[in-house]
Parts: sequence; C-alpha cells; structure tokens
Amino acid sequence: MYACPLCNGFKSLEQSCPACGNAMDDQGRLVDYMGDYIAYLDYEGTNLIDGISSSNEKHMCLHLFLCLSCDKQIHVPIKETEVF
Ligand SMILES: [Zn+2]
Ligand SMILES: [Zn+2]
Repeated sequence: MYACPLCNGFKSLEQSCPACGNAMDDQGRLVDYMGDYIAYLDYEGTNLIDGISSSNEKHMCLHLFLCLSCDKQIHVPIKETEVF
C-alpha cells in the first residue's frame, strides 16, 4: 500500500516560503480542510495542477503549508511512498 510520509510521520518536509523565504509549517492534508472540493481552488503553478488532477493514480497527498511569518499558504503535493 501507499502512504504519505508526512501524514504518517515518517518524515517532515522543509518548505520555504516563496514570498518571504521563511520556513513554512505543514498544516496537514488539504482534504482535511476542504473535503473533496479542492478542484476549484486557485493553485499556483501548473505543476501543482498536474499533481492534483492525477492525485489518485500517482499516489500524491496534497498538503497545506502555512508561512508563520507572512501567512502565505501554498499547496504542496507530497509523493506517497510504498510501505509493506
Ligand atoms: Zn499527507
Ligand atoms: Zn512568508
């Protein structure tokens, strides 16, 4: 099976804020906030759209990252890893 390493605490992701460069905080899975209605969101960058549109097939887990300095939020698709 596949599992998101961030959701399951395998590891954490060092994500720096695209606006101010400070470290961002993982707020968890976006679907936990948005339910299934994530398609309408205004995503930044076409690479993220690719990750979302095929999230089921490619085992991607979409996370919300929040900048604690400037409150910027970004959505980062996390690649799920195979666990046994
Ligand atoms: Zn996750
Ligand atoms: Zn920031």
